[in-house]
Amino acid sequence: MPNLIDKFGREIKYLRVSVTDRCDLRCQYCMSEKMSFLPKQDLLSLAELSKIAHRFIDFGIEKIRISGGEPLVRKDIVELITELSSRLGQDFAELTLTTNGTQLAKYADALSSLGMKRINVSLDSLNPAIFSSLARRNALPRVLEGIEAAKTAGLHIKINTVLLPENLSEIPEMMRWAHAQSFDMSLIEIMPMGQTDVSRRKQFVPMTHAKDTLSQQFTLSPILRRDPLSGPARYSYVAETGGRIGFISPLTNNFCASCNRVRLTCTGRIYMCLGQEDHIDLRKTLRSGGCIDTGIAKAVNLKPEAHDFSIGDAPSLPRHMSVTGG
Ligand code: SAM
Ligand code: SF4
Repeated sequence: MPNLIDKFGREIKYLRVSVTDRCDLRCQYCMSEKMSFLPKQDLLSLAELSKIAHRFIDFGIEKIRISGGEPLVRKDIVELITELSSRLGQDFAELTLTTNGTQLAKYADALSSLGMKRINVSLDSLNPAIFSSLARRNALPRVLEGIEAAKTAGLHIKINTVLLPENLSEIPEMMRWAHAQSFDMSLIEIMPMGQTDVSRRKQFVPMTHAKDTLSQQFTLSPILRRDPLSGPARYSYVAETGGRIGFISPLTNNFCASCNRVRLTCTGRIYMCLGQEDHIDLRKTLRSGGCIDTGIAKAVNLKPEAHDFSIGDAPSLPRHMSVTGG
């Protein structure tokens, strides 16, 4: 099978799959309170998701991250993970997941026993009032219980925190908490994806603010060597905690030159870039009995050199992160 190489010479090794647009939280920066979800028939079935993912593995994909929406609210999620984990081996090296943690207490053991080694858990505050206000649901105790279950199941955890005006001052405390439990942590700059109820301009905090806040209390040493499958974060080692902190700054410091990923939405579209609208519709191809190999090749050829996000009051892209898979 030929590997997937785009027209700028980047080899595509990493697939992110959104398995549902639904979620049990309503994070202010991701969804509106009265979010309308897609009709069930628009979503890929388990068989369709599995067929596309298997084909990507045949084409040399080394890592798949399952995301959403909240992937663990999809009823057949364990069946999908069982399906894909059967391919884990030398070439397909990693199957992983990004979750909000609310269902982890139920699923952590299953994920671990199916060969998952690491997961990302999104957590924007350890303060119950701030968490509930940001997520519009009072779910912090359930998330912390889920994180504990994942730790006990032996999963390595990375905490992902979106940088917001509400949590900026809490970042040092959250990092101490994460590193004390040997969790990695990454901070993410907000991206202007989809309409929410709050102005993007008011939500946006540049990553330099977090770095300044952290540098006042900690000694950060940038880690220059990057793992090609580790994603867009630039990591620093923190002398005082012995842990690592990652910075993901799509707006102030883009990472396009080394981008080796494509995204499959829960509706079967392949997006080559989180920040562009070009896509190929594999659901249409599958449901009309067509060959998805041609669609995959076309998609890779469409991968743009760079994204062009900008922060204003309106979203710069109409689709929500939950459909595309963050
Ligand atoms: N529900 C799961 C979760 O929250 O981890 C998986 C899907 S969520 C869309 C994946 C990641 O995208 C989360 O870490 C979330 O914080 C982040 N995210 C969502 N909307 C975002 C936005 N507009 N800008 C930056 N990150 C965003
Ligand atoms: Fe749900 Fe994740 Fe979006 Fe929050 S960020 S609303 S948990 S999909």
